[in-house]
Amino acid sequence: MVSSFSSGSLLAPCLQVLERANLNQYLPEESLLQPLWDYLRHRHQDSLRSPLFPVIFSISAYFSFCAAFMALDLLALRCPAINSYRIHPEQPVTRDKLLKTLGLTCYNHLVFILPAATAQWYWRPPIPLPAEAPALSELLVGMLSCTILFDFQCYIWHLLHHRIRWLYTTFHAVHHEYCEPFSWVTQCLSAWELISVGFWTTLDPLLLQCHCLTAWAFMLVNIFISVDDHCGYDFSWSLHNLVPLRLFGGSLKHDAHHQKPATNFAPFFSHWDWIFGTHSKNKHSPAVMAGKKGRGHHPSGTLTHSAG
Ligand SMILES: [Zn+2]
Ligand SMILES: [Zn+2]
Repeated sequence: MVSSFSSGSLLAPCLQVLERANLNQYLPEESLLQPLWDYLRHRHQDSLRSPLFPVIFSISAYFSFCAAFMALDLLALRCPAINSYRIHPEQPVTRDKLLKTLGLTCYNHLVFILPAATAQWYWRPPIPLPAEAPALSELLVGMLSCTILFDFQCYIWHLLHHRIRWLYTTFHAVHHEYCEPFSWVTQCLSAWELISVGFWTTLDPLLLQCHCLTAWAFMLVNIFISVDDHCGYDFSWSLHNLVPLRLFGGSLKHDAHHQKPATNFAPFFSHWDWIFGTHSKNKHSPAVMAGKKGRGHHPSGTLTHSAG
């Protein structure tokens, strides 16, 4: 229900636009998410209120998404059809690369994330759960707004950590050890970068006064997009091939950043790199290129159009 949105929220103007469009007449009185929210509140209240919940939720999501892409990487070693969807099919994801990145991921989680989670569990009071679920429109607008804000923060952070040599060598160089990223490279990060990303992911829904369900949905989408950025795959159904106007960069654009580190600083969308002239061209996987050629697209045109 659009009108159920808190009038004090920073997202209120966006929701008011939807409200003026008189969408209420098409929507039920109760939020579509209310039954799900009631179920979660009544059955899992203690778990959801725990300060540890966001940490366990995000770690589980991260390992699940990475494991799914790792399974594809292992299958791609034996199956040329899967390998042809990789952006760099000539550079296999070897067992050594997987073990090295997994080792750094486990180290980061044990040394930085676990103590931070323990401190949060010890000091932070249980999270209050409101009785009302957010309207579906409120959840979607909130998620999109958080994603756009996060994308802007990361663009600035990322640009500075490439332009200022000390910041690059001290904090960001570790992420650029891999020119052809794969899923586990996503969190091959220094502690400072891990903290920065975690801070914005937590802060942005609070800044925009989102419902906690919206905050968790944003967290899940954010983790998926970050892993997708590094997965090394370019499927015809990948987000960057579905979102119109090449607005979403995805794995193609971020792969180009790992190839040409002075370009493509925004993690998700393309607009900041267009505005500030930091975008660069990128290439599709052989399978997607073949599909485009089959539909009559000229290959050189494909390269130009995929610039993000
Ligand atoms: Zn990266
Ligand atoms: Zn970078």
